[in-house]
This record gives sequence, C-alpha cells and structure tokens, in this order.
Amino acid sequence: MAKQKKTAITPTRDENYPEWYQQVVRAAELAENSDVRGCMVIKPWGYALWENIQRGLDKMFKETGHVNAYFPLFIPKSYLEKEAEHVEGFAKECAVVTHHRLELGEDGKLHPAGELEEPLIVRPTSETIIGATFAKWVQSYRDLPLLINQWANVVRWEMRTRLFLRTAEFLWQEGHTAHETEAEAWEETRKMLEVYKTFAEDYMAMPVLTGEKTAGERFPGAVSTLCIEAMMQDRKALQAGTSHFLGQNFAKASGIQYAAREGDKEFAWTTSWGVSTRLIGGMIMTHGDDDGMVMPPRLAPSHVVLLPIIRQEEDREAILAYCNEIAAKLRTQRFHEREVEVVIDARDINAGEKGWGWVKKGIPVRAEVGPRDMANHSVFMARRDTGEKKGIDKDEFVATIAQTLEDIQQGMLQKARDYRAAYTREFDSYDEFVAFFTPENKERPEAHGGFAMSHWCDGSACEDKISDDLSVTIRTVPFDRAESGAGQCVCCGKPSSGRVVFAKSY
Ligand SMILES: [Zn+2]
Repeated sequence: MAKQKKTAITPTRDENYPEWYQQVVRAAELAENSDVRGCMVIKPWGYALWENIQRGLDKMFKETGHVNAYFPLFIPKSYLEKEAEHVEGFAKECAVVTHHRLELGEDGKLHPAGELEEPLIVRPTSETIIGATFAKWVQSYRDLPLLINQWANVVRWEMRTRLFLRTAEFLWQEGHTAHETEAEAWEETRKMLEVYKTFAEDYMAMPVLTGEKTAGERFPGAVSTLCIEAMMQDRKALQAGTSHFLGQNFAKASGIQYAAREGDKEFAWTTSWGVSTRLIGGMIMTHGDDDGMVMPPRLAPSHVVLLPIIRQEEDREAILAYCNEIAAKLRTQRFHEREVEVVIDARDINAGEKGWGWVKKGIPVRAEVGPRDMANHSVFMARRDTGEKKGIDKDEFVATIAQTLEDIQQGMLQKARDYRAAYTREFDSYDEFVAFFTPENKERPEAHGGFAMSHWCDGSACEDKISDDLSVTIRTVPFDRAESGAGQCVCCGKPSSGRVVFAKSY
C-alpha cells in the first residue's frame, strides 16, 4: 500500500469538501463563528484580505466615475413595501427592529420597551432607502447620472450559514446609479459586470463566466440580472457578483423623477451592483489545497514571510539583523499596485510548527534564514503555489521577488482556468446530463460534475424540473449564447437558440 501523504488539513478536499473548507478557514485564521448565530468574526488575516479587495475594487469604481457615500442601516418598513417583487424576495430573511429601548423588569431581566410606531428593517440591501434619497437629489436631467457606491454591512436572516459563503451579516459594497436613458443604464450595468470580471481574474486569479440570469434567478425587482460565476474545486458554481438593470421599477417605487430636456417629468433608469465577503470564500475554494489557503499575491495581506532559524542563542542577533536587512530591501520593491509586504516571524516557537502556520495561511513566499544561509549570503525560499523550494542568493531573491510574485499570480489563474476547462462539458443527451450530475459514490458526493453546456428551450418548466430532480440550476445564459449554435433543449427537445451553463451551486 502506498504511504499516505500527510497534509496540513484534514479531511482533504477529496475526503470531505465542505469540512475541508471549514478547516481551511480556521487553520488560515481567516474567520471564526461568533456567539451570535450565523454571524462571523473576521480575524486580522482575513480582514486584511478584505481590505485589499476593497482597495482594488474601490480604485476601479472611482476610475469608472463613481463616488462613495453612506446610507442608514435601518429602512422603514413602508419603504421596503414600495416595490412588490422586492418585498417578496426579501421578506423571509429580514431582521426587524420593533422597539427602541430596554427596561429592567422586576425579574431582574431586560425587556424591550418603547414600541416603534413603524418597525425598522435592518438593511438586506439598500435600493429602497437609497432610492428615497435619490428622489430628493434628482430634479432635472442635469442631476444625472448619479453614480454612488456604498461600503457597508447587510443582514439577511439565513438559517443555514457557512463562513464567508452565507452568513446572516456580511460585508459588501453596493453600487446604485440613476440615469437619464435606458441605454445609459444598460451600459452601466454591463460596465460594472466587466469591472467585476476584471477584478476576479486580475486580482483574485479566479476565472469567471459572465452572462444573464434566467427570470427565476433574477434579483427581486430587477428587469435583468447579470452575473459572474466561477467554478470551485468541488466543481460547483459560485455566484461571485451581480449587476442589475432595474429599469424604472425602483424609480417609480421611490419617485426618482427628473425634468427632461423637453421639459416633461420622466422617471429615471436605475442600476445596482454588488460583491461581498463571499469573494473570500470563492478564493479559498478556487485556490486552497490540502495544506490550507493559497493567497493570490495581488491580494495577499503579506507577500513574504522571513523565518529566522535560530539554533543557538548567540546567533540570534546576527540572524535577526540579516533578516531585517533583507526585509528592508524587499520593501523597496514594488509588486503590482503596492510595495512588497514582508513579515519577519521571530516568535520563539517550534520552527516546523511556525513554517506550517504560514503554509496554512497561504502566504505566497516563505524564506528560511539560518546560520548557513547567512554565511552563504542566501535564503532558502519556498513558493506556496507550487511547493518549489530552493536556496537563492539574497540579492537575487530581492531583485526577482516581484517577478516571482507575478509568476505565482499568473500560474494560479492558469491553473484555475485549466481546472474549469477540464470539468466543462457539452451534453445533448438528457441521460448523460443526469449521469454527469449524479455522484458515482453516494457516500462521498464531493467533487463530481462541473459545468454542463447544454441547450435550453427558455421554458421555466424545464428549468424547474432540472432543479427539482438534480439540484442543478442555470447559472448563466452566456452573452455569446448564439455562437454555440441552435439545437434542442436537453430536457424537452424543443428548439434552443444556444447553450447555457448548468451546474450545482452555492
Ligand atoms: Zn425545455
């Protein structure tokens, strides 16, 4: 029997993917469950990752003409009621504030008191409260377009939660824009989807498919929802970002009206778009391996960790000085949009344990520095993505660090692209389609299937049947659907104008 390879994370991805995910989040010190059910504590290493996500996206939002603002956490119930489909979509997961103070009872406990005349909803999303504000800001066509983004937290009362992927409270950004014409609003909707795609691929090294959601998967109240979808390593799809064309639905509900160029009162055309801390879950499941997290260098909280190996106390001072010298030189180097960020981990703990800690956290480059390395003017470096290890001259290490990080970044993107390609298949027979989505080993259903590119008649009956039978949904209708050619619906055989993407999903 082959000797089992020891991994830092148990179980492995193959053994139990959902549990592997939880263990990576824990071992990489990204987040943990809190005492409040469904709410997470984001730990410093995870929050630094979020800050880098914010920085990258915020720059792109500003380059496309948007500005940041902040709107209230609470939404009057009557606001949410204004858009019928919106209400229906969110009603089941709203946290509601009904009282405004507490009173100490005779039982020694605190009791809610001061009932509010109108309950307040903790925002699940802000279309209605921002719409009410836009209605005040917009008078004339000269006030348009309004291009606003908000960084905030939102609450959706989820019963089954998973760190980063689905939590009751999560962090996100929500863009809200109002335009004079339908065409401009559509252009904005598509432009922001393109921003998300660029961010996912260039920063996160996570390839995504773009397209439109079917009516059944649309944002409540939207005319159209565009999305980016990525394949995780259990071959399920993750919806990583959405951009909604809201038509005039929310403008009518909130009264966003402007005096048109011709003088008539017209309703504005609005959009909204968002991504959340779910992106972190996406990165873990795209790049993580059986040893833990693998950080894409462009978003990694730190790029390099220097690990002084101090075997004899008398070496300590010299080795630390040597590490400081290398760190200072590394920090003068630029990689992508930042300076190279370096940690020197001089904690007095077992060297093996220390090294594994950084492997699990996914830092792109580790470099051990012991007395022999110092004597040779070198370091012993290891790449997290490939596991490659080598001794390297310290000046060369510094001079090539930006290129090394870029190689890691591009290698990770390519690996993820190859993975997706390997598990994307076209199916024209329903039997084969069903077999693709039916795990061979029912005891261990992890990691099977993938993206099925199949024809669809555009009928909700087929969509529902596939969803009921297989828990498979249409993740996206590609913009270039027609390029795959016409055919027959994989489910009912009726005509189809092109293939769509079917998958199980998060
Ligand atoms: Zn059909």
